[in-house]
Amino acid sequence: MFEYAPAPESREIVDIKPSYGLFIGGEWVDSQGENHHKTINPASEEVLAEVAWATEADVDRAVRAARAAFTTWSALPGSERAKYIFRIARIIQERSRELAVLETLDNGKPIRESRDVDLPLVAAHFFYYAGWADKLRYAGFGRRTTDGHSGEDPRPLGVAGQVIPWNFPLLMLAWKIAPALACGNTVVLKPAETTPLTALAFADICRQADLPPGVVNIVTGAGETGAALVSHPGVDKVAFTGSTEVGRMIARSVAGTGKRLSLELGGKAANIVFEDAPLDQAVEGIVNGIFFNQGHVCCAGSRLLVQESVADEVLDALKRRLSTLRLGDPMDKNTDIGAINSAAQLAKIRELAEAGVNEGAERWSPACPIPERGFWFPPTVFTGVAQSHRIAREEIFGPVLSVLTFRTPAEAVEKANNTPYGLSAGIWTEKGSRILWMADRLRAGVVWANTFNRFDPTSPFGGYKESGYGREGGRHGLEAYLAV
Ligand code: NDP
Repeated sequence: MFEYAPAPESREIVDIKPSYGLFIGGEWVDSQGENHHKTINPASEEVLAEVAWATEADVDRAVRAARAAFTTWSALPGSERAKYIFRIARIIQERSRELAVLETLDNGKPIRESRDVDLPLVAAHFFYYAGWADKLRYAGFGRRTTDGHSGEDPRPLGVAGQVIPWNFPLLMLAWKIAPALACGNTVVLKPAETTPLTALAFADICRQADLPPGVVNIVTGAGETGAALVSHPGVDKVAFTGSTEVGRMIARSVAGTGKRLSLELGGKAANIVFEDAPLDQAVEGIVNGIFFNQGHVCCAGSRLLVQESVADEVLDALKRRLSTLRLGDPMDKNTDIGAINSAAQLAKIRELAEAGVNEGAERWSPACPIPERGFWFPPTVFTGVAQSHRIAREEIFGPVLSVLTFRTPAEAVEKANNTPYGLSAGIWTEKGSRILWMADRLRAGVVWANTFNRFDPTSPFGGYKESGYGREGGRHGLEAYLAV
């Protein structure tokens, strides 16, 4: 392996306050409760800041602020709303280095990923939905007139209660807030307990953009805060990204209330490599599919299905490639694999990896020094995996790949679909006809061909079965925030 000189990004650019309150009605306010929570850097376990844990009363205050703001915000012409959203997008671009550093410190992901993937996509989302704000009547959801357009803009839903996870904190915020605002809704958003800092920085951006008070409200806290938000009677729309288990609880609490709900839950995606695929490129796609963001990706290609005739060749190349990945300080621009987001997530990954060994699969990791402090897990490959193994069925949400083989395309489809999830899939082959044949048969919301984990604000994203329902992104993503 090459020796690299360290290339640390400076953290001087971010100014983290020792403690944060809640952002309600355009102001920073104290929580009415006593509880505070320390958010730490998972790469060093250093405390970054203390944040308030919003109580039910705080959530109620935030929902009321959003309700009050809805009257004027929803009455603004779309072109006026667009100006605010464009302004937010531009401020995100201007402050992107600062936000990337903050995301990496709070989440543990490599700075290269937060700088080159997360932040550009965050800004792109706001730009994209800003463009829709004055064109909603052309989105195809309203009543049609003879010229094919509805004569009037479809109506917003009201107050959106949004709960997001820790794997892409600011990007998930963008996926939720940008379409909601473009459609004329106001929002109360709860970031994940381990990654609140970029959402709080976003609150500051809303002030900088002169967004009317109450249009965006940020309440930090744990599961109870999320539960209080989604069950609040003043919320008209609930949007959740996270585990299938919590998604189920939310679906139960929302059932029968008339609230609209979209759920983006877990996955166990198959990344399928045929013998005619460009194998070097496929190996890069496998690495990107499961080791990007430490595998904390709901659509990660966590099951590699490789055609038996090339299995040895692909595995050899994959192991060679994994031996070159650099795990360590997320703030170093050379780093490929950062820290696991929390001690709890690390424990879950370890437990599932041990289950893989106990069930008889063979475990392999490259030689890879692990830092002493912080939460780390080496890139890991399991071979000899059976479909019944837990590591082939359960979402590990870590840098762990389970390898299975197949002989025919029909067998690949059957194995790929043999999961309670249905979020994404990847196909690697030279034949266009085979891509189409496979894509027709795969029960997955997103199917990538000769690539993986590619995101764009213009394309819809979402799942089947236990991966949830509703779409985010693209024109389809507007539907979740309009009364149609
Ligand atoms: P959760 O689903 O618990 O967390 C997602 C968000 O929901 C967080 O903001 C969380 O708050 C909040 N929340 C928790 N309980 C409730 C509730 N009862 N009502 C409303 N909101 C609630 O995921 P975890 O962080 O616990 O991760 C567990 C597993 O979920 C992971 O190991 C992974 O397999 C999967 N996961 C999948 C994701 C995906 O994108 N599909 C994203 C994250 C996790 P808080 O953080 O404070 O608990």
